Amino acid sequence: MSPKIRLLSTDFDGTLVAHGSDPVLDRGCMKQIETLQGDGVIWAINTGRSVDLLESGLTDLAFPIHPDFILTSERDIFRRSSNGGKWEPYGDWNERVAREHAELFHSAESVLAEVVDFVNHKTKARLLYHTAGLEGLIAESEEELDRVTKFIDQARANQPKFHYQRNTVYLRFCHADYHKGAALAELSRLLEIPREEIFAAGDHHNDISMLDGRFAQYPACPANAIPEVKDAVISAGGYVAAKTCGAGVDEALLHFAEFF
Ligand SMILES: [Mg+2]
Repeated sequence: MSPKIRLLSTDFDGTLVAHGSDPVLDRGCMKQIETLQGDGVIWAINTGRSVDLLESGLTDLAFPIHPDFILTSERDIFRRSSNGGKWEPYGDWNERVAREHAELFHSAESVLAEVVDFVNHKTKARLLYHTAGLEGLIAESEEELDRVTKFIDQARANQPKFHYQRNTVYLRFCHADYHKGAALAELSRLLEIPREEIFAAGDHHNDISMLDGRFAQYPACPANAIPEVKDAVISAGGYVAAKTCGAGVDEALLHFAEFF
């Protein structure tokens, strides 16, 4: 008998959540994930949002189901703590990730300064700062972000570990080795659930690292996914849904139903 899917890794915005649509959440998708969780399947939300922004998203949208794990900021891993249901770091991964990023941003200071200079003088993008310093930026349009990433791709030539994650008009600076796929791989290791038992779904640039087949055997994307995501999913033998957002995830889960 072939192994069964035991872990779901889904993006949030544009994948489970259809912003600006009515309904925002697909009932069939919510129901199906709930049923799978009831059968023992583990569900992780794998998002670019921070813990706080994800929590407010889940609350504001009155999410009817609750993830077992959250993978946030495209790199951190949290599980629900036994007391009080708050999120707590799972293992020492988040500490390692923070340390590696602090070291990287220190050694790549001049590249970062070049990027800041470009953004301030050549674009209308807004830089985003967090407690640890410069975190990323918001561009005015995806076209503007294309110009920014083109510049970064040149500037990082001598600092190949200095990289970024992008999602619509948002960009976050990061270490090249840390992304949604790496976080999923660590969760897979901690839970002892191999790639052959993992389903993943996402719609944008920052999802490609978990949809290219390296860390999840069953990648999928909704119809609204960008062409680069669809290409990655198809190359990995995954499923591109005809429906958008949550309805597309529902469709993809049904497509792989025989593997549950
Ligand atoms: Mg998304």
